[in-house]
Amino acid sequence: MNYQQILKDIHQAILPYAQEGKQADYIPALARVNPEQFGMCIHTIQGRTFPEGDAFVPFSIQSISKVFSLAACLSFEGDELWRRVSKEPSGTAFNSLIQLEVEKGIPRNPFINAGAIVLADVLLKHLKHPEDDFLRFVRALAGNNRIDYNPEVASSEQACGYLNAAIANLLKYHHNIEGEIERVLHFYFLMCSVEMTCCDLARAFLPFANHQKPFDFDGIRLTASQVKRINAIMQTCGFYDEAGEFSYLVGLPGKSGVGGGIAAIYPKRYAVAVWSPRLNAKGNSVMGIKALELLTTETQESIF
Ligand code: GLN
Repeated sequence: MNYQQILKDIHQAILPYAQEGKQADYIPALARVNPEQFGMCIHTIQGRTFPEGDAFVPFSIQSISKVFSLAACLSFEGDELWRRVSKEPSGTAFNSLIQLEVEKGIPRNPFINAGAIVLADVLLKHLKHPEDDFLRFVRALAGNNRIDYNPEVASSEQACGYLNAAIANLLKYHHNIEGEIERVLHFYFLMCSVEMTCCDLARAFLPFANHQKPFDFDGIRLTASQVKRINAIMQTCGFYDEAGEFSYLVGLPGKSGVGGGIAAIYPKRYAVAVWSPRLNAKGNSVMGIKALELLTTETQESIF
């Protein structure tokens, strides 16, 4: 498959959508990002890389980090984790409070904010130096030691993070947070602030596409079955209340973030990442979804 040419053609084909949507503005630092950017990168399990456009520009991965924190939590807790967070699609926005109240502090899944705030609490319990340890894990996955947090983005979000603070308080009220709320939120925002390029992300997601190889990065180990199940949760919950639409249009497990990034995997073949800051009403990248829809349509490669 000539992925390089396919990505080039996709880039051309999606230009008419370049002005659709707007970047996340509830996080002031993200509102300042130049929205006129588009990058994409495929990394195959044979080790070939196909970059296109702004594939080497770092951006805020935001909720894509939730896949990394889920991987780490599962390696520490195994199925115990599911006592504190479910694995059903929410059908609600990523930052919704309503369901959490009705369901008494058990988040629907690890990929909505409530679920990931519980994951942050779990990681704080297990990691000796949480900030350093999490970063080392992500760097090992991506094979790039220059990957880092952007503390400015994290504090910009924390300063206006009223909704996430409300979620954390509700979780704490229901005894689903053990640590101090301030500490948990600080770590949660920091994990969201990690900056990576499309090529970093494609490489970091490759182990999720590659069941045959053991998953073991900086001491975080998962069985092939656990990796497969993380993919299942990406498929059903990776795009909040647009998970069904993404499945319908693209047909790959994936995860989005409000920085405009999306990472997805084609099991046993490749991982792909795409980035463009303008988001639709559900908080997912407009051009990102369009590009992935074209990729799986043109190549006729999807899990279905
Ligand atoms: N940091 C963002 C938040 O908590 C992450 C949300 C997202 O990427 N969907 O609101």
